Amino acid sequence: MSKLEDLHEEIKQCQKCHLREGCTQVVPGDGAETATIMFVGEGPGEREDQMGVPFVGRGGQLLRGHMAATGILQKKHLWYISNIIRCRPPDNRDPHPDEVEACWEWTLRALKIVSPKILIPLGKSSLYPLARRLGFSNKIGQLTITKLAGKPFYVESRKIYVMPFFHPAYAMRRRDVDEEFRSHMMYLSKAYQGWSERK
Ligand code: URA
Repeated sequence: MSKLEDLHEEIKQCQKCHLREGCTQVVPGDGAETATIMFVGEGPGEREDQMGVPFVGRGGQLLRGHMAATGILQKKHLWYISNIIRCRPPDNRDPHPDEVEACWEWTLRALKIVSPKILIPLGKSSLYPLARRLGFSNKIGQLTITKLAGKPFYVESRKIYVMPFFHPAYAMRRRDVDEEFRSHMMYLSKAYQGWSERK
């Protein structure tokens, strides 16, 4: 088994927080161990909880649909998708800080193994914890996701590009946001090659 598969097996056994009691299964990531682009969502919804795979419900269809439209999805070596928490929270509420804390080891270990050149936080529940824990809060300050989505920046200390996206569930509810989401994916599909060559 690969390192990433090993990690996923470990993740599936996780009992580190109370969310495990209320969900069907832990949902590890999906995608390539050598991915250039790592997407990090919020947490599993109902469908993900049933299937054990991130972003396979309605929001997932929107995300994967836009990835497919730009050709990113078809390049399977290119992407890895995970979440900031890996057990479905009750009523799909936002993750609580103690749950993000409990799940952080998995996010960090996935980041170490995959070693992506580009990190895409999907929505605020992913962006702010990632910023705090990876040390790029100074790049985003007090700005909201509306101001930050679609605007990439480089984090020198981590040698990684970060491009915040809207959360797909938000894009599902608003046509204008969906249009923006689509244009951000298009931007990413044109820029990733150049970004990934930065030393
Ligand atoms: N929303 C998320 O944030 N993650 C998923 O896996 C599915 C929906």
